[in-house]
Amino acid sequence: MTAVVDSPTTPAIAPGASVLADARSQLKTATDVLGFDDSMFAMLATPRREVTVSIPLRRDNGTYEVLTGHRVQHNFSRGPAKGGLRYSPDVTLDEVRALAMWMTWKCALLDVPYGGAKGGVRIDPREHSQAELERVTRRYTSEISPLIGPERDIPAPDIGTDERTMAWMMDTYSVQQGHTVLGVTTGKPIALGGSLGRATATSRGVAHVAFAALTDRGITVAGATAAVQGFGKVGRYAARFLAEAGMKVVAVSDQYGAIADERGLDVPALEEHVDATGSVVGFAGSDVLEGSALLELDVDLLVPAAVEGVLHAGNAERVKAKVIVEGANGPTTPEADDIFRRNDILVAPDILANAGGVVVSYFEWVQSSQAFWWSADEVESRLAQRMDIAWRDVNAAARKRGLALRDAATVLAVERVAQAHLMRGLYP
Ligand code: NAD
Repeated sequence: MTAVVDSPTTPAIAPGASVLADARSQLKTATDVLGFDDSMFAMLATPRREVTVSIPLRRDNGTYEVLTGHRVQHNFSRGPAKGGLRYSPDVTLDEVRALAMWMTWKCALLDVPYGGAKGGVRIDPREHSQAELERVTRRYTSEISPLIGPERDIPAPDIGTDERTMAWMMDTYSVQQGHTVLGVTTGKPIALGGSLGRATATSRGVAHVAFAALTDRGITVAGATAAVQGFGKVGRYAARFLAEAGMKVVAVSDQYGAIADERGLDVPALEEHVDATGSVVGFAGSDVLEGSALLELDVDLLVPAAVEGVLHAGNAERVKAKVIVEGANGPTTPEADDIFRRNDILVAPDILANAGGVVVSYFEWVQSSQAFWWSADEVESRLAQRMDIAWRDVNAAARKRGLALRDAATVLAVERVAQAHLMRGLYP
């Protein structure tokens, strides 16, 4: 471990750290609405604990490289920290700080007993073999192991990681403890204590919120059109559930390109194509879309399910979707949010729309701790119930306070975290 910083000072916003600036500006709006003073803002804006580690990697060809990894634990007021682990060449500490803060609000909004955390390793997983990724994961886990555990901080998959990664993390941690600790990660394979329904949970939640938001706007779900950016763990199943509900998924994209079919893509056939080729590009019968044209299509529903900051001041005026449901974390900048509000585009924010994953991660952690497994139906009906309650709570708060859904959701979440913080009191 190269550096552990307990209770760091409020991080300065480095140049290019716009995601963190966005997250902090959303928090500022919420603390202003709630009438909190600057000291409460500073408390909630500052991660409780951050660690940056070096990960020396022996490549398959015998050479070495040294990677950098982070784990940020933003808040513990309501319970252990919880959040994904991202493998991407674009990972920065400020990005991980922003994602950790959003996890705190998401867990509070869905009323799961966690704080927020996030991890990231600066690596392009496509450039590494499975054996190399396993060595990176085991070394990273070993370096951060004093800080994680079922009662401390529970990682889960995010961009570039999957159930395999969670199995390696769980195994590495368990070897160090001397016994199997299933509850240290969630999003594990079913054979290793994973929960039925976890792999599709985020997308199920996205679809659930999308149907509610479309209905709210007077749009009939069956026959409505959708575009989905990103075809990974979130975007792929979101497209599947939208199509299964009778929607026309007219465009999808991944990091290699975007495709469209105005008659509606055949999503099951597209999934087979992606399994065979690794990308949506080249799907038979589809048209090619250039650049970020997908985001500007005239559709009923737009689901950004890839990365942060894709809807911004530079393109928001050209967005024609009636409803945006955020599968990704942080896809909309505050400037774009203002434009969408003016243009009467309904935005279902990330901390609500993509919370299905952490809800079923919570179910997985509960099942692990009880060593008692639920049926898929039980998981899915409990998930639907939680998403319904959160959707209703956020809409009620938005109406009561005259706020957009994002601000209403953040206000609700921040209020719950602040309450827990005040009731616990400050040590010493
Ligand atoms: P993933 O790695 O499985 O998939 C990411 C997808 O986005 C891939 O298809 C990739 O090709 C594509 N992509 C990357 N850059 C792109 C670009 N510029 N344009 C179009 N496509 C691009 O990751 P994931 O788990 O699906 O996560 C996607 C987003 O959802 C992230 O913001 C993540 O934080 C968020 N999220 C994930 C979960 C989860 O359970 N996995 C839960 C909540 C939120």
